[in-house]
Amino acid sequence: MATQRILDFLATRRPNGPCLVVDLDVVRDNFHAFEKALPDSRIYYAVKANPAPEILRLLASLGSSFDTASVAEIEMAMDAGATPDRISFGNTIKKERDVARAYELGIRLFAVDCVEEVEKIARAAPGARVFCRVLTDGEGAEWPLSRKFGCVPAMAIDVLRYAKKLGLDAYGVSFHVGSQQTDLSAWDRALEDAKHVFATLAEEGITLRMVNMGGGFPTRYLKDVPAAQAYGQAIFEALRKHFGNRIPETIIEPGRGMVGNAGVIKSEVVLISKKADNDNVRWVYLDIGKFGGLAETMDEAIRYPIVTPHDGDAVAPCVLAGPTCDSADVMYEKTPYALPLSLTIGDEVLIEGTGAYTTTYASVAFNGFEPLRSYVI
Ligand SMILES: *Cc1c(COP(=O)(O)O)cnc(C)c1O
Repeated sequence: MATQRILDFLATRRPNGPCLVVDLDVVRDNFHAFEKALPDSRIYYAVKANPAPEILRLLASLGSSFDTASVAEIEMAMDAGATPDRISFGNTIKKERDVARAYELGIRLFAVDCVEEVEKIARAAPGARVFCRVLTDGEGAEWPLSRKFGCVPAMAIDVLRYAKKLGLDAYGVSFHVGSQQTDLSAWDRALEDAKHVFATLAEEGITLRMVNMGGGFPTRYLKDVPAAQAYGQAIFEALRKHFGNRIPETIIEPGRGMVGNAGVIKSEVVLISKKADNDNVRWVYLDIGKFGGLAETMDEAIRYPIVTPHDGDAVAPCVLAGPTCDSADVMYEKTPYALPLSLTIGDEVLIEGTGAYTTTYASVAFNGFEPLRSYVI
């Protein structure tokens, strides 16, 4: 939702071209909602969702930790004021020299999902803490993370045993239930797997201490989503069910849920046309598309709410497309988007819920269009 602060900023500053405006008050509220919903979990903000320095500085000042995927993201978090003990290198795919650089910077917490990665960490970050990521089915998520990350629980046991053998601190298990996860039971299934890894290794005398429950917390787009409190409750109950009164240290890594609803993209209608006189579906071309920051419309996965100056007027289905000369640059076609018939060329529209995964996904200069500009207020 566009907050009054965002609307005032757009009205007074009149920024030219498409841009994202992020309201830090909303980020602050989201952080406090996560703290309240999961009071015993440490929050590692997933930097990739939106690494704007103002957001990182705010979160660092609120006491957040940071989940990073590269040396550059580690440096961004440190520049924002986070100390290395509040940063995890959570990407399971790392160059050994980047592991070494992170270790030099003081990072001691690393993700792995195979023995090959454990060997790199053992060489480049001796003695560090490692957690092993297990696969999840991603069911219930609108942006599933598929099989790219993690291994089956049986392999996680081998990976952590091997880590210990190589002198690393076999610290715990991680998972990610898939982004924009609206099925509250997804954490329960993953925690059952985590518990299995904990229990098996405990029999061998290896005591894991941490479960990293990843991200997945949703942003409200067109449909309502459960509040942070409901997630907290479901996760707490699942932890209780599987770990009884020996609940380990836990981490959450919200990205979308921390910043998604804090941002709004202002865009302009460049063209409205038809492909034939008798078509009843209009094509609406905006000055932003898949290459300008709306990459998550891929496969029409994420459907953003769009506010126009004519809301309330009669609507009709539209194909929504971006401004570039690539035919892949169409956001919604299989399921057309209903927009007012009175919408005209030159109108400004607001694309809501765009605080996460937009600026970082924008291309550098495809067709000469500059990367998505962003204002953090
Ligand atoms: C992207 C990512 C997150 C954040 O996911 P959201 O669904 O945006 O909350 C958390 N952890 C890891 C390891 C990630 O790669």
